[in-house]
Amino acid sequence: MAKILDKQRYKCALAAMQTVQAIDRALPILHSGPGCAQKLSDGTGSSGYFSPNIFPCTSINEKDVVFGGVKKLNSTIENSLKVIDADLYVVLTGCIPEIVGDDSEEVVTRFEDADKPVVYAPTAGFKGNNYKGHEQVVDAIIDQYLKKSDKKEEGLVNIWADVPYQDLFWLGNLREIEKLISELGLKPNTIFGYNRGIMNIDKIPEAQFNLLVSPWVGLSNVKKLEKKFGTPFLHYKTLPIGATETSKFLREVGKFAGVSEIKVESVIKEHEDYYYYLIARYADLFLENRVINKQFSVVADAQYTLAITKFLVNDLGLLPATQFITDDTPKVYHDAIREEFENLNFGIKAEVLFETDGYKIHNNIKEHDYHGYPLVLGGYYEKELTEELKGNFLNISWPFQDRVVMDTSYAGYSGSIKLIEDIYTVAVSRFN
Ligand code: SF4
Repeated sequence: MAKILDKQRYKCALAAMQTVQAIDRALPILHSGPGCAQKLSDGTGSSGYFSPNIFPCTSINEKDVVFGGVKKLNSTIENSLKVIDADLYVVLTGCIPEIVGDDSEEVVTRFEDADKPVVYAPTAGFKGNNYKGHEQVVDAIIDQYLKKSDKKEEGLVNIWADVPYQDLFWLGNLREIEKLISELGLKPNTIFGYNRGIMNIDKIPEAQFNLLVSPWVGLSNVKKLEKKFGTPFLHYKTLPIGATETSKFLREVGKFAGVSEIKVESVIKEHEDYYYYLIARYADLFLENRVINKQFSVVADAQYTLAITKFLVNDLGLLPATQFITDDTPKVYHDAIREEFENLNFGIKAEVLFETDGYKIHNNIKEHDYHGYPLVLGGYYEKELTEELKGNFLNISWPFQDRVVMDTSYAGYSGSIKLIEDIYTVAVSRFN
């Protein structure tokens, strides 16, 4: 039976238009109703060379539902190629054309010989959310654009991590991971954000390996890359935040890539020395404040709930109450992710709930005894609730309403310092 989902934390698969938008000079062409892009374009930082307001769209209507919308799709692609200067055109289908059975894939194949590449990803809302849509877009690029290459570049690493725009910190996180990988003497290759784009997409088949930093999103993509190009992959399940996880991350990547232990340890030492210098300077704040309670909950997608839980337990010594994963993680990944929550430092285990219903999440938080002010890191939906409970709240997951993030990162050593600043700024402002 259909049920009402309260406070949904994701959008439909067509919101993967934001994944396309995050690729420099890539243009989404929407085969959908006229309201879809408008409804899905709530992200901040989404204006620029292309923005949702100008994405070409077939704007299909009642007549197209009866007679089919393929003619309109054909002319929309044709005209987009004529008037919009992009490097890659990605056709995304919404619910209506898929329900009425438009053969959008066939239409796209008519443009195989166009001057610029045109690919197609089926992203109807009823097929899943934008995490799945993100994977569909990457799949489309792999299947329809990338060609096999005999050339392999030693040390070149394709990095796959956040879902752009769904994660407000996607740009900063990717740049931070790139920086860490470079320090190991490897050559990072990412396709999202400033000055990457088609040039870097072309390099994907030449990589020594793919590095996936995510509990589950993107796993099917790197498996596809392995199958098509024989490129091995390292699946690192936790976005590294803080010294404990980032040092572990560097050791695993170094080992997989064949980087010498001496090199890896010297990179780690330099970062850790500075990291612990900063932590030591503020140790009195961490230990003696009376407003950041020992217990916390994170309400976010699998990427952030896992990463922040590990960081707060392993590095800051806080204790986890229930943690909530809200991205509708496919069941097949639940056990592996749950295992990560049971493997925290000091033998601590965190209870994790895969729950998409905000009503149930809020009830759970309300009923839990945090033994003081709860610390809740979550979506904007949790702000009012945390205020009611006189707790401390930080907006780290979608929806975002009370912060602007340009290229801030929470990943790595320096990103975690930013996260500490944000959390304890909330704490100390209680005294003002
Ligand atoms: S669910 Fe379907 S109709 Fe609604 S925005 Fe997504 S693609 Fe459009």
